[in-house]
Amino acid sequence: MIGRREFLGATAAAVAVVGFDPLGRGWVTEAQAAERPSSATPFAGAPALDGELVLDAPSREAVATDLGNITFHTPGAVLRPGSARDISRMIRFCRRHGIPVSPRGQAHTTYGQGLSDGLVIENRYLKRIHSLGPTTAEVDAGIHWMELAKAAYAHTPRLTPPVLTGYTGLTVGGTLSVGGVGGLVGGLHTGLQVDHVRELEVVTGTGDIERCSRDRKPDLFESVLGGLGQIGVITKAVIDLVPAKQRARSYVLGYDDTAAFARDLRLLIERPVVDHVYAEFVAPGTSPTYKIHATVFHEPDQPPHDRTVIGGVSGVPEIRNTSYLEHVFTIDTLIDSLRQTADWDRLVKPWFDVWVPGTRIESYLAELMTTLTPRDIGPLGAGLIYPQRRARVHNPYPRLPRPDGSDWAFIVDVNTVSATTRPEPGFVDEMLARNKRLYARTRDHHKGTLYPIGSVPLTEEDWRGHFGDKWPAFRAAKRRYDPDQLLARGQNIFRDGR
Ligand SMILES: Cc1cc2nc3c(=O)[nH]c(=O)nc-3n(C[C@H](O)[C@H](O)[C@H](O)COP(=O)(O)OP(=O)(O)OC[C@H]3O[C@@H](n4cnc5c(N)ncnc54)[C@H](O)[C@@H]3O)c2cc1C
Repeated sequence: MIGRREFLGATAAAVAVVGFDPLGRGWVTEAQAAERPSSATPFAGAPALDGELVLDAPSREAVATDLGNITFHTPGAVLRPGSARDISRMIRFCRRHGIPVSPRGQAHTTYGQGLSDGLVIENRYLKRIHSLGPTTAEVDAGIHWMELAKAAYAHTPRLTPPVLTGYTGLTVGGTLSVGGVGGLVGGLHTGLQVDHVRELEVVTGTGDIERCSRDRKPDLFESVLGGLGQIGVITKAVIDLVPAKQRARSYVLGYDDTAAFARDLRLLIERPVVDHVYAEFVAPGTSPTYKIHATVFHEPDQPPHDRTVIGGVSGVPEIRNTSYLEHVFTIDTLIDSLRQTADWDRLVKPWFDVWVPGTRIESYLAELMTTLTPRDIGPLGAGLIYPQRRARVHNPYPRLPRPDGSDWAFIVDVNTVSATTRPEPGFVDEMLARNKRLYARTRDHHKGTLYPIGSVPLTEEDWRGHFGDKWPAFRAAKRRYDPDQLLARGQNIFRDGR
């Protein structure tokens, strides 16, 4: 964790807030407070903090959008917490004055999910590993999965979280708020990241700091995991760790035909020797249209028998051997290079992400392919498929499709990325309309559900349908733990207060 001195040094230019003027509905800085005439109405003093509450334009502008660059909201103030107590004090303060609050991880959602006009809490300032090994780690929610993966691997014996997202520069709190699909580790033999959490520390929308688990305040625990920031701010998590192997052997297979691709995908995900599978797709016309990446983790002296892994598949494999951590950080390496060469963070990303029931994946992809053009993905975007074994998913949020007799559900992502930071007029509207259309078709015809990390415009009705039979329980948790609907309004779930 950074020390208090470094913490302050890094933000020396930030303008500190001393209070809030409830009549003028504005935050008050030290300089403004000093200039106020003594006859002026007194403002409400902000609580003393271990971290910082800042108001200067650069600090607020820095958190005014997310990776999507589609939605913009400049917050009135930014909290860089030094402790969970800071979050509690500021939530209580904001509640008294009716100021909305949004927790923010790395803001790698793409449609304003973590934005706010009120107070943004920059959770990444809380990033300590409190304990690690042999079966769990207790971490602050602002830590990146990358840091946890490195620390776990450095432990003796080597450990790893059982599920890691493809990109690991995401915060623990951010992915636990959406679900956490195993992008490069997990999914075939594990649940989602939310299924591998033992305990949480949460600051609720009333400012209470609570510890919760499956046995202690289970309604809070259940509704915060995959709860899209609605119920509370996750400040700490106790996460499962499992033994890590040292090497990864990946088999990359190409296909132009949906049926042949889907047949091999199904074959590989059922093979016990295979540890991880994901697939990529592009618009038809480019060969190969699909690529399967199947990976086996192993010790250096026990490499897998290739025939046991890929015997019987129709694609011709390219085999890649890497260390375990090289495998885990594949996408981080790619994104780092895009950051350097293509202004990645500022490109526009109207992403579309859904769960498709296991029985539907062939027909879903066949239909999707008839609509997809190269522009739908873009030169730096990706079409992605992640299989998830349903029996390992225990948490009711995120919302997977209703059981359909298959052991599997698949995430399908159309992760569109604009070619330049200023795409042509109409690009965003066109892609949002496409996402809306694709979502309606996925939900109504294919019985799929939303994975709410992307850019799909939703109505309150859509959200109620999304939560389905869990809507009453989720709404009850909201009423209990965030009765004033202060938290994460950017999700637009409780817009009408029902
Ligand atoms: C390159 C890339 C690869 C990805 N790969 C995967 C993948 O393999 N699997 C997968 O599942 N997802 C993947 N994602 C999506 C990612 O998991 C989500 O976008 C996730 O929400 C990002 O985490 P974040 O820290 O940026 O959260 P943010 O975008 O900052 O926050 C997301 C939501 O959670 C809320 N929130 C944030 N922190 C907290 C907290 N501590 N407590 C309560 N609420 C909070 C926010 O208010 C917001 O509503 C990927 C994204 C990118 C950009």
